Amino acid sequence: MDLFNFFKRHRCQNCGRRFHKVENYMHHQMLYHSDKNIYDCSNCGLKFTDMDKLKSHIKIYHSYKKEKS
Ligand SMILES: [Zn+2]
Ligand SMILES: [Zn+2]
Repeated sequence: MDLFNFFKRHRCQNCGRRFHKVENYMHHQMLYHSDKNIYDCSNCGLKFTDMDKLKSHIKIYHSYKKEKS
């Protein structure tokens, strides 16, 4: 891939900020513009940027209870 596309890809479509690292870009999206790609814990409402983190959170903090009935 060429550099131009690289930077274009890392430019926020919503606010125009640019990011040199894809991680920063992702993080920015999560923090500022996403309601889609955030997984929130149904037990405590904490938000996670990926499913694995949410799963491990649930394991650690909420594994003792299964389902509220
Ligand atoms: Zn933005
Ligand atoms: Zn939780």
